[in-house]
Amino acid sequence: MPASRTRYVLDEAIGRPQDWSFSWELKDDVTFGTTCQFCRKNQQRISYEVQRADERRWICQRCAGRYDLGGVLNGVAVDQMTIRATLHDCTERQKLRTCLDVIRRCIDRSDDPAVLEAALHFDRNLQLSPLHAASMFFLLATLPERIDPRIFEIQTRSRAHKQEFGALGLAARALVWPALTPLQQRGLSALGFGPRARASIRSKAAPAADRLAAH
Ligand SMILES: [Zn+2]
Repeated sequence: MPASRTRYVLDEAIGRPQDWSFSWELKDDVTFGTTCQFCRKNQQRISYEVQRADERRWICQRCAGRYDLGGVLNGVAVDQMTIRATLHDCTERQKLRTCLDVIRRCIDRSDDPAVLEAALHFDRNLQLSPLHAASMFFLLATLPERIDPRIFEIQTRSRAHKQEFGALGLAARALVWPALTPLQQRGLSALGFGPRARASIRSKAAPAADRLAAH
């Protein structure tokens, strides 16, 4: 796709991307506040350290996937498939560690059984259901450090989970909404479950202005 490639012109100082290689260090920024030192894209969560001689830079997930950077494992230069598989494993492990750590901090602050249930649900599914997300995010907002709820994946694929989201109160929906992907938000909006719309009374009763606002 040449059009999307030309949108990312790298600094001259970076030179050829393939001259850089992964150090396998990665950072998980739970505030989504990191800027990629290759493409300059900001608001990044995961970034990877890359090196060229004694230079070091931190690059975003897109750049890590877009260019064929090198990588050495056990002293041997490895192929692209191995590099991608290794990055994928490190990334998934780091994301999981981060979520478990945040959940532990939330549990430390509350003896609410709903939060323990949410933690158990995450252990089993590695995702939160809308209801569990609402319990967890309520506490997340009380932690001293800012943590973006988008570090968690929310289940909205099944009909039951969609209904579960729709059944949340408006305050709970507003807590969970920012953690949803744009695609999830569109899907739920189409069902009348947007953060401003009211569930279940939309069909006949919803006035035209409300319908417009939901689109
Ligand atoms: Zn980048």
